[in-house]
Amino acid sequence: MNTQITNAGKKLAALRKRIKKNCVVCDRVIIALKQAKYCSNRCRQRAKYQRLKSIKKESHFS
Ligand SMILES: [Zn+2]
Repeated sequence: MNTQITNAGKKLAALRKRIKKNCVVCDRVIIALKQAKYCSNRCRQRAKYQRLKSIKKESHFS
């Protein structure tokens, strides 16, 4: 019984692979899905904001 549950859990974990990586914004180590980039929603928002800001800056200079 117990081993069956463990095996099911292992299968599930393999399906959604989580890896150790760094948040691209704050560089914090996170355990997240392979495609994830940020540790939190806040960092996602910040990345979005910084991108907009840099675009603005570029257009201001030219
Ligand atoms: Zn972060």
